[in-house]
Amino acid sequence: MEVASYMIDKASTITVVGSSEMPYQNTLGREVGKITMMMLLEKGVRFYMNDQVMEIKGVNGQVKEVVLKSGNVITADVLIVGIGSIPNSEYLQGTKIKMNSKNFVVVDKFMQTNVPDVFCAGDLASFPLAVAKNQLVNIGHWQMAQAQGRIAALNMLKKTTELTSVPYYWTVLLSRTIRYAGRQTDQHSGLSSCPSLYVCNWTRIREAFIDACCPRAAHKTNQSLTLPM
Ligand SMILES: Cc1cc2nc3c(=O)[nH]c(=O)nc-3n(C[C@H](O)[C@H](O)[C@H](O)COP(=O)(O)OP(=O)(O)OC[C@H]3O[C@@H](n4cnc5c(N)ncnc54)[C@H](O)[C@@H]3O)c2cc1C
Repeated sequence: MEVASYMIDKASTITVVGSSEMPYQNTLGREVGKITMMMLLEKGVRFYMNDQVMEIKGVNGQVKEVVLKSGNVITADVLIVGIGSIPNSEYLQGTKIKMNSKNFVVVDKFMQTNVPDVFCAGDLASFPLAVAKNQLVNIGHWQMAQAQGRIAALNMLKKTTELTSVPYYWTVLLSRTIRYAGRQTDQHSGLSSCPSLYVCNWTRIREAFIDACCPRAAHKTNQSLTLPM
């Protein structure tokens, strides 16, 4: 979405293909997904959601067409693929350090692994999230990596300190800032209109609000969304 937003005045056509119904659905929720999708739709970006790339056709190493699972074929000369991330933890295989099934290192609220005096913080850590009833999660954001690094350091120094940090994330789309604090749940409520977007989604309170968003997009979230396919 950020790349699509940045390319709006640079590319002749822009198409976003996503496997979920809405962009950001699993991270920021459906309502933010819908608003941001409307913002980009209004700028001419095309969306193929609930779809997948099945084949990339090219000539001499140059992409020409992208074939989707739905059967749609998109003409393109540049394809940007968001592949996500996986933990780089192979070097820990065979050690006593406990990892989960996805190879993230499991730590407690002090960022301590199961091995004494071995700590882990940041993207590699699967940790108990205080605002999610200490559910073990992995959150790949700068804010969380920095907070965890600090907690790990304090505990290495025997200054016993728990991680209580609330996940926080921000991004920018079409000069509008999206700020997100908390953890995504399926429940969101309360939309109003303003120039940037603030989402607060506390797992316990189960409440999300957007107190500042694109007025036209916010208005349109009350309407059914028809995708141009
Ligand atoms: C394209 C991209 C965009 C992002 N955008 C955002 C954003 O907008 N906002 C946000 O909050 N987060 C963003 N992130 C996530 C953010 O970058 C990470 O959450 C953060 O960098 C995690 O910090 P870290 O220290 O855990 O890991 P890293 O920053 O990945 O640092 C790990 C370091 O360990 C080194 N390393 C790896 N293996 C070994 C080894 N065996 N021995 C020695 N060193 C090793 C690596 O080279 C690296 O320097 C983005 C990530 C990417 C990839």
